[in-house]
Formats: sequence, structure tokens, C-alpha cells
Amino acid sequence: DGSLTPRDDDDDDKLLGGLLSGDFDESSCLSRYHAVSYWKNPSRPPSPHLAAKLRRYEALHKRCGPGTELFEKAIHHLNSSNHTAGKPTTDCNYVVWVPSDGLGNRIIALVSTFLYALLNDKILLLHLTDDFHDLLCEPFPGTSWSLPQDFPVGDLLNIYADPPWTLSNPQNAPYLYLHLTHDQRFSAHGFFCEDSQLLLRSFQWLLLRSNQYFVPALFRSSVYEKELKLMFSDADVFYHLGRYLLHPTNSVWGYITRYYHAYLADAEQIIGLQIRVFPSAPISSDQMLAQLLNCSWQEGLLPEVMIEEAMNSSRWKGNKPKAVLLTTLYSGYYERLKSMYNEHPTVDGEVIAVHQPSHEEKQHTEERNHNKKALMEMYLLSFCDVLVTSGYSTFGYVPQGLSGLRAWILVRPDGGGESVSCRRAVSTEPCFHAPMGYQCIGEKKRKDGEEEAMRCVGKCEDVAGGLKLV
Ligand code: GDP
Repeated sequence: DGSLTPRDDDDDDKLLGGLLSGDFDESSCLSRYHAVSYWKNPSRPPSPHLAAKLRRYEALHKRCGPGTELFEKAIHHLNSSNHTAGKPTTDCNYVVWVPSDGLGNRIIALVSTFLYALLNDKILLLHLTDDFHDLLCEPFPGTSWSLPQDFPVGDLLNIYADPPWTLSNPQNAPYLYLHLTHDQRFSAHGFFCEDSQLLLRSFQWLLLRSNQYFVPALFRSSVYEKELKLMFSDADVFYHLGRYLLHPTNSVWGYITRYYHAYLADAEQIIGLQIRVFPSAPISSDQMLAQLLNCSWQEGLLPEVMIEEAMNSSRWKGNKPKAVLLTTLYSGYYERLKSMYNEHPTVDGEVIAVHQPSHEEKQHTEERNHNKKALMEMYLLSFCDVLVTSGYSTFGYVPQGLSGLRAWILVRPDGGGESVSCRRAVSTEPCFHAPMGYQCIGEKKRKDGEEEAMRCVGKCEDVAGGLKLV
């Protein structure tokens, strides 16, 4: 086991204190070992237990992954007519991740599904749609996480409409379909119940569709309590698993590094601002900008400007500019912020340079290059010194989790924050938006009043009824 051989400090940094495997050809995925030099805060190593678990997972994935004899056997089993209790014939068991919604939603669900796979010794495979190709590198050495095109269950994106086998219909099923999205229209309400978790272990094939960060619910399950305690000592699941799984391909890494060196590298400090407006909670751009500035000024993240002294002041102190990295679908915010900091001096004489990498105007998840830009911006935000993100936005959760920074989260108009513009995140974890409606989350507490299992799960700053690790 290569993980036990001693390494020098450089290696240790590059491999994030043992989080990453050293078994990759560096040039095939530059971001894997280079991103760490862009993140601002010193990286926190994973627990030795997590590192060892990842090495064991990699070995299992290599043994059972696509192209192996054991994989063919499992496909054969899936195709055969005899599925008494779905019992596998080998220790190769699979969970197939099926994408849902935008990139942020996909990423948080992917990380959750990977944790579920790790906890159950299942192999994570991805149903990669065309729009998701060439975004992320393969994370497991010597194998692939991509579900082969000739996978016998067809039309995975539409299976939800009428899934033949679900938790409520598991008898003699070749696979089970689990639908863990926010709408909860279907089939998997009992997923988090202890009985279901144990039952699911015996299924060789699970198809799981989600757009949620359901990690907090796994923390509330007594089935995983001990193991999770060993794996994670803090509320840092996304931080470690995100840095382990989510490496932009060389093509996206090119976008990221070129932009960074062209516009951000020389700044004294980089302030990341992410603006997301949801149709279900509309807000005018005037109000949004006012809220953003209120938050940034009150919290001392950006200097205020002196409106009256527009013409007669040149108080530049000679220091390097601070850079604002603004990400949003729209172009108007950039123009207004840039003009404001150009046309007025700041109270402390700082010079603020405003940059926005793209303004796509509309979400186009079905377009690969659109998704590449979204990933670029998530990564660039993760390289900032300070983050202000939009409440409810899974897009904003990704850079927060990757960077390990606690963002200031802008309160959404329906977020009950009449008197506050933003709230500081209590942890860097994403929020599980929609735990309501699923059964058995936190059943342990209800059963015996024991608080221990729930100690680390609390409320979200931005979503009423949401759960997050704290
Ligand atoms: P959420 O809807 O905010 O939770 O985030 P998602 O990432 O799931 O979906 C929003 C999608 O809209 C993103 O994946 C992008 O495709 C697009 N989008 C939203 N905001 C931005 C932005 O600031 N920059 C870019 N490039 N795309 C964005």
C-alpha cells in the first residue's frame, strides 16, 4: 500500500496531506496537484482514517471498475432474470449517479453520493451526459468512473417518471432506483431509514438521482455514526471530498489559470462576490446591489466610497489594488460596481479593480462550454481571500466548500432577514435544502432522546428547514 511510504514535505503538500493518491501522471490532470498552490488558507490534512479509506476505495474501484471481468459479471447479473433479493455474487457493488439540474446541484449531489458509496463499499459510477464531458478529471487511478455507454438500463434521465424498481418495490429487482431530489415526488422517502440503509447494502446495482447535499442526513443515521466520526473530525466533508473528487480537466484548468494570472494574481487581496437571482424569489438589481454593498461595507470586506468627493480627491496610497471577482449571469452589476469604484475615491484610499469572467445571461446547463465557464468561476471564487455568496445557491456552496472559507451569505428576499443583508456561514459545508419529507432523518433522537448523533448537524443560514454540518 503506497499510502504508508514516507514522503517529503513537498509531496505531502501536493497530495494534500495524504488526501490524494500519488499514482497519477501529473500532466494528464494539472489541477489535481496544482490547485493547492492557489488556495489561500493553509490546507488541513484529512484524518489518517479517511486517507486510508480512500486508498482502499481506489483499490476496490480498480478491481471492480468498467473494463474488468468482475464488472462484466455484474452487468451479466443485472441482465439475468434471477434476482433473488438482488443479491450480488461478488463484493463489487455499484451506485450510479444520475445528474439533475445545474452544475452546483450536480456537484453537491455527486459528493454526497460518493460519501454514500464510501460508507457502503460501493463503486461510484457517473452517468456522464454530453454537457458534463471534459469538465472533471478521473479521480480514481488506473480506472474510470464513467458508466459505459452500453449500460443495459436505458434512458437514465427519464427513468424517474415510472421507475420499475424502487424502495417500495424491491422484490426480485435487478436494481433499485432512488430519487433523492428536492421535489420528493417519488420513491425514496424511506432512503434514510435504518432498515432501508441495511437493505440497500445487498443490492448490487443502485441508480441514484439527486440534486441535494444529503450528507447531513447520513450523519444523522446511527448506521454510519461510528465510521463518520473516524473519517471526519470537523464539519469538513465537502472540503476533503470535494478536493479529492473535483479536479477540472486541463482544458478548464487553462481557462482558470489564464484568467487568474491575467486579472487576479497581482492583487493585494481578492474578494469574491457571487450574485444569483432566483425566479422564485425575485429582487431588482438595484436592491440586490444595495444589499451586496451593505453587506460588504458593514462587514468591512470592501471599502466604502465617498460620493461627494467624486472629482477632487486622489488619495491613492500607492498600494496594489484589491480585486473584486464578480460572478453572475448578468452584466449590469459589473458595470455599476466598476463605475462606482472608478468614479469615486474609497474612504481608505484603496483602489478596487472589478473583474467578471463571463456573463452568460441565462442558465444553459445543456451546453458544455457554458458548464466549463461555470466550473471555472467556481474554482476562481475558491481562490479568493474572502467570499460573499448568494443564499440558496448551490453554485456558491462549491467555492465555499473547496476553499474552506466561511462565506458571508446574502439573505434571499424570502429568507426572513428584513434587517440583515448577510449572515456569516457557521461552517463551510453546503446546506441540505430539502430534508423535509424524507422519513427517518434523525430517527435516533426521536427514539431514545440521545443528542450525540446530531451534535454536528444544525440549521442552515440561508434555507429555512435546511440542515447542515456545523
Ligand atoms: P443554483 O441554481 O444557484 O443552486 O446553482 P446551479 O449551479 O445548480 O445552477 C445554476 C447554473 O446557472 C449554473 O450551473 C450555471 O450554469 C449558471 N450560472 C448561475 N450563476 C452563474 C455564474 O455566476 N456564472 C456562470 N458562468 N454561470 C452561472
